[in-house]
Amino acid sequence: MDMKPSIDRFRLGAFEITCFLDSRAIREGLTPSHGGPAMAEDVRALARANRIEPVRYEHPFIPVLLNTGKELVLFDTGNGALGQDFPELGKRSDGRLVDLLHYAGHASEDVGIVVITHGHLDHIGGLTRAGERVFPNARYVFGATEFDFWKRGENVRDSRKVNRELFMKIAAPLADRSTFIKPGDEVVPGVHAIDAAGHSPGMLAYLIESDGKRLLNWADTCGHYIVSIQRPDLHLDVDDDKDMAASTRKRILEMAVAEELFVVGYHMPFPGLGYIERRQGGYRWVPHGYQLNL
Ligand SMILES: [Zn+2]
Repeated sequence: MDMKPSIDRFRLGAFEITCFLDSRAIREGLTPSHGGPAMAEDVRALARANRIEPVRYEHPFIPVLLNTGKELVLFDTGNGALGQDFPELGKRSDGRLVDLLHYAGHASEDVGIVVITHGHLDHIGGLTRAGERVFPNARYVFGATEFDFWKRGENVRDSRKVNRELFMKIAAPLADRSTFIKPGDEVVPGVHAIDAAGHSPGMLAYLIESDGKRLLNWADTCGHYIVSIQRPDLHLDVDDDKDMAASTRKRILEMAVAEELFVVGYHMPFPGLGYIERRQGGYRWVPHGYQLNL
């Protein structure tokens, strides 16, 4: 049994935010996944300097629940039962989101809106279980560009072909219950979409604001809390458009610094909360202390 903390709740103005550790994977190959073989020495040096292993790394999956007081808004759904429903995917971390929601006092039936930041499997995997909708009373919000890309299925790179097939099975059937939005659009009062395309063709980040308190949910803008932030220029193998992902990373990191935002990131160390400090040649992830608890 995993005894690590898996639920973190705090207030953001009049809102309540809960971060869930749906699952975590231990992956191999910090390099060459980040920066390719050419940058292996740089990545190893970064790892050494930051006291992390150069090969194995932890990859957490952190859906975020916003309680506006009127409605529960869930950002992304974790891995769900992908491993059981689609054995062809091989070994997958099973998602615990529904159990964790229960511990946090909510049934999956209570979720009113599910926002999908982008169509990758670790974000859509918890939408269904054995073909049934996990959040039966929810409406869904997708980025219009993102949904369109996966639905049309053109220019999907080889390593995302299976992702595309499963998107058609899991997410595409939800179209008639969905709203399709673009950067700048509002999900509910206080929640606005921000263009974060690159990691996927139409990924959206979200700025969450209440009573002057602000939190940036940057989804997968940065995939690793050391490498992607200290060296945002390094290409990442899971980024669908690598140049665009790198320039989006820099833009969003710069925004986080300039606007002094707290950030929640889907693949940052649990609870995924921190802020960004500028430093020579890049940035640094500063994990949340107690600022959001007061
Ligand atoms: Zn992801």
